[in-house]
Amino acid sequence: MHTPAYAALSAGAPLQPLAIERRALRPDDVAIDILYCGVCHSDLHQVRNDWGGSRYPMVPGHEIIGRVAAVGSAVARLKAGDAVGVGCMVDSCRHCDQCAHGEEQFCRQGPTMTYNGRDRISGETTQGGYSRMIVVREEFAIGLSPQLDLARAAPLLCAGITTWSPLRHYGAGPGTRLGVVGLGGLGHMAVKLGVALGCEVTLVTGSAAKADDARALGAHRVLLSRDAEAMKAAASSMDLIIDTVPVAHELDPYVRLLDVEGRIVVVGALEQMPVNAAALMRGRRQVSGSLIGGIAQTRELLEFCAARGVYPECESIPMQGIDEAFARMERSDVKYRFVIDMTSLAGA
Ligand code: NAP
Ligand code: ZN
Ligand code: ZN
Repeated sequence: MHTPAYAALSAGAPLQPLAIERRALRPDDVAIDILYCGVCHSDLHQVRNDWGGSRYPMVPGHEIIGRVAAVGSAVARLKAGDAVGVGCMVDSCRHCDQCAHGEEQFCRQGPTMTYNGRDRISGETTQGGYSRMIVVREEFAIGLSPQLDLARAAPLLCAGITTWSPLRHYGAGPGTRLGVVGLGGLGHMAVKLGVALGCEVTLVTGSAAKADDARALGAHRVLLSRDAEAMKAAASSMDLIIDTVPVAHELDPYVRLLDVEGRIVVVGALEQMPVNAAALMRGRRQVSGSLIGGIAQTRELLEFCAARGVYPECESIPMQGIDEAFARMERSDVKYRFVIDMTSLAGA
């Protein structure tokens, strides 16, 4: 099946229209007409080959909202017309210990990523959501509540679950003093979800201009990372920090914000980031990482957001506006997630 898409043909190249082929449905596949796709900073990293291993042509996009167009012969859970979400994974081995307990992102054989991954059966490179249609294994298409506002939900599939997962894993709730570093796509979801869970939330930002926005999103306090005095005054004041900064940076200033037994969870940068061991020892502080989240937990998040009316702040763009959106995202000029309206790709 041919479908219109937008692809990078080489590292860092502007995205351009490209017709791609989606596989014929296997018995456990669903074909999805894509309505919306969020623009994640990971899309930009991957297009530019920041992490190595990018393959081209590359159709990015892993915050997908759509409707089921057709189902394979063995699909029982979904039917044509159902609203579904697809995140960063489209398959996994489904029988290792991690898959068995719902953490497909840690599949021992590696999950199949939505784009720049390898299909487990054909070995073909997977292509993502900057397109009109996608075919995925049914378990990775999550049925959505009729209450969910589809136009505002796409960023939950990556930015949402990536912050929800550590919040839930570490039991964030009333009484948790939560720090969020960076107010972008992930960061603004961490603020909103932290507030919704009852945490006391402090945004730590490099952008003084974002302070009012952060408060409007529910943050109780804003700390400017460049303000050495304020950072010092906030030492040992947090239990859990989610660090969403997309590039390598000093961790120590944030580690010092942690109270005894406090933990910083790095979800942004993939690079080497040295940390002062003495600062960890003093107070038994912990540094950890987290990768997206499993399908069951993504379902939990989507249900939570539908029931509580918690939504990302979305700026709608047409597919043709993607390069400008990437440039603006790089300048931190987005409030707070671009979402591509896929009807813009109709006649491509
Ligand atoms: P984003 O929307 O661009 O937001 C990143 C925020 O970090 C910016 O708004 C800015 O916030 C701050 N920032 C940006 N450049 C910075 C710099 N040079 N130094 C310090 N702070 C900077 O990005 P995103 O979509 O939230 O993604 C953030 C990172 O998470 C990316 O690297 C992405 O690849 C990664 N990611 C990881 C996972 C995972 O599973 N672990 C999942 C999705 C994405 P302030 O202006 O407030 O400082
Ligand atoms: Zn992402
Ligand atoms: Zn597995």
